[in-house]
Amino acid sequence: MKHSVTIEETRELLSEYKGQTVGLVPTMGALHEGHGTLIQVAKEACDIVVVSIFLNPLQFGPDEDFESYPKDLKGDLALCENYGVDLVFAPSEKVMYPREMEFNIGIKSMANILDGVKRPGHFEGVVTVVSKLFNIIQPDMAFFGEKDRQQLMIIKRYVQDFNVPVKIQDVPTKREESGLARSSRNVNLTESEYQEASNIYQALKMASQKIKDGETNVNKIQSLIKIHIEQYTSGSIDDLAIYTANDLGEIDEIDSDVIIFIAVQFSKARLIDNLYVSI
Ligand code: AMP
Repeated sequence: MKHSVTIEETRELLSEYKGQTVGLVPTMGALHEGHGTLIQVAKEACDIVVVSIFLNPLQFGPDEDFESYPKDLKGDLALCENYGVDLVFAPSEKVMYPREMEFNIGIKSMANILDGVKRPGHFEGVVTVVSKLFNIIQPDMAFFGEKDRQQLMIIKRYVQDFNVPVKIQDVPTKREESGLARSSRNVNLTESEYQEASNIYQALKMASQKIKDGETNVNKIQSLIKIHIEQYTSGSIDDLAIYTANDLGEIDEIDSDVIIFIAVQFSKARLIDNLYVSI
């Protein structure tokens, strides 16, 4: 496995793979089996798999967990090696942002909901770094997790709007046996919070079942989720919404596929999850 830190050496290493398809898995490090799934899917689809590891300051707000975000480059490299990654690009902040950016990416309605509102500037930061990574690596495909579904949908739209020649592939959420979505932030949960956190997925599944059983009222479903989270966890709901699956539209009554989005704040970790419900 190769490991690069500068853009020049990355481009040089990539030039050896001419004629082969390149898949990119962008990450912020502290890798886990969720990232591993992305790598596996990428390996099946592409000849060469590149993983980028970069904790992107641009997508963190001033009061967010940039400083306390887990870091483990040695463990990350070992995981990548185990999964058969060809190249890890792990640049420093100076390499990615040698000076303040003169240009801004702006996002309209897709960032006017959920984490776009809770974390102002977050998705603009995500699209900026993804755009830079696409230009540096020039992959044929890039792989993103459904765990961060709003991000996935925004990246897909970015690629369409700007005619970016990269195929975006979604990858289903990898979960613990308990149902808890794997996340780098899970290490910032206390032992008891970690146990309780599986209730996020339990609540989503319960809500999904209610919808499949015929409940159409969004407020009712949201109340049930709220009660479940309040009863079984010490966390507090930071965000909860049910939107139409195709265009994230607001609804009162469910009459087509929807996605349930949730964010739960624990003492030192804010966890997000979502569930696609087809009816
Ligand atoms: P992150 O390092 O958290 O920025 O995540 C990098 C990529 O891995 C993103 O596309 C995430 O959606 C994806 N990812 C994170 N956790 C999971 C998971 N549990 N299952 C599938 N994909 C995930």
